[in-house]
Amino acid sequence: MNAAVPRPAMAPLDLARVRADFPILAEPVRGGRLAYLDNGATTQKPESVLRAMDHYYRHQNANVHRAVHDLAERATTAYEGARDRIARYLGAAREEIVFTRGTTEAINLVAYSYLLPRLKAGDEVLVTGMEHHSNIVPWQLVTAAAGARVVPAPVTDNGELDLDGWRTLLSPRTRLVAVTQVSNTLGTVNPIEEIVREAHARGIPVLVDGAQAIAHLPVNVKALDVDFYACSAHKAYGPTGFGALYARREHLEAMPPWHGGGDMIRTVAFEGSTWNDVPYKFEAGTPDIAGAIGFAAALDYIDALGLPAIAAHEHALLDEATARLSEIPGLRLIGTARNKGGILSFVMDCAHPQDVGTVLDQSGVAVRAGHHCTMPLMKRFGIPATVRASLAVYNGSDDLQQLVRGLHTVRRLFT
Ligand code: PMP
Repeated sequence: MNAAVPRPAMAPLDLARVRADFPILAEPVRGGRLAYLDNGATTQKPESVLRAMDHYYRHQNANVHRAVHDLAERATTAYEGARDRIARYLGAAREEIVFTRGTTEAINLVAYSYLLPRLKAGDEVLVTGMEHHSNIVPWQLVTAAAGARVVPAPVTDNGELDLDGWRTLLSPRTRLVAVTQVSNTLGTVNPIEEIVREAHARGIPVLVDGAQAIAHLPVNVKALDVDFYACSAHKAYGPTGFGALYARREHLEAMPPWHGGGDMIRTVAFEGSTWNDVPYKFEAGTPDIAGAIGFAAALDYIDALGLPAIAAHEHALLDEATARLSEIPGLRLIGTARNKGGILSFVMDCAHPQDVGTVLDQSGVAVRAGHHCTMPLMKRFGIPATVRASLAVYNGSDDLQQLVRGLHTVRRLFT
């Protein structure tokens, strides 16, 4: 290598190689090429994840934690190894990682086990107006049971959290702050450090919904200083129906079990039972062992590519997509925050989002059309729905081209 030529700080992604890792991307749809832009809903899975899960069922399958035979030992080692992997990815200790069915179950666990026993009438949970239903409804269920309420912080016209408005809603009645790190509808990246600092200064714990974050930006729960962090494997190239809750150890120790059953107990007697150590106290029943293994393999995949390289690729693509969509007459982007991830929500003046989605599907473009489980946010913007294109590491300019071509077809058909 010529010493006079500086090395690039970071190797760019080899898009063709990345794509080759995802078999489903070669799947024809509607008789043509697939442009998969529905990554906010779920991401596709690389060969290494598929292989890890297949390997588990072929060579390791047994129930965990009751290992008196070779296969049970293999299954337990793989399952607990996955916990170490996920803990390392998030910067947590292994005892602080509770396996769940995903972000939704993780938030419900905090709502029922942490919050409900502490709630009094008049208490408040402070959320934001851009939360996914998963970060609203669990709080509604437990606050309703206690005579408390959920308070939403305002969102600005460009889709940012109105921090001044949020601050004025923090009060001595606030028992918990819950906020998404990245909005699944707007792409907005929220200032978690600032939110945590201000909430903690008032002694209020913070839960972060990391569903849309972990595959796109580096997350360290200790650096963020959050109390709870919820995430789903399937948004990060892993399997569906699996995820994790990070919670500070002292919270987990103080929380009662939520689900009862096998594995979460130390002793059971009709006179009364005692509980297993954390995190097992919260993991009743036979878990999704292959799910844990698939999640760990997905995080290996992300780390092998490198989150900085992934983020750089997705940001360049977001800029390109924003510019291209802005040129389409009658198209309005919803969510233009200064700090944004690879999510583009928009409406068109000529057609309903559902119709736009249907026409795009005919062109092989997979997007989502609807409220994206953020109905209060739709109300805030005075719209029933948006079309959402959401990016992942395997997307490229050709996908955007296909999207733009499809949108021109929409215009031709509806104007
Ligand atoms: N929060 C956000 C921001 C999401 O995007 C999603 C998934 N759309 C969820 C929570 C719920 O995740 P899951 O369905 O995997 O529990």
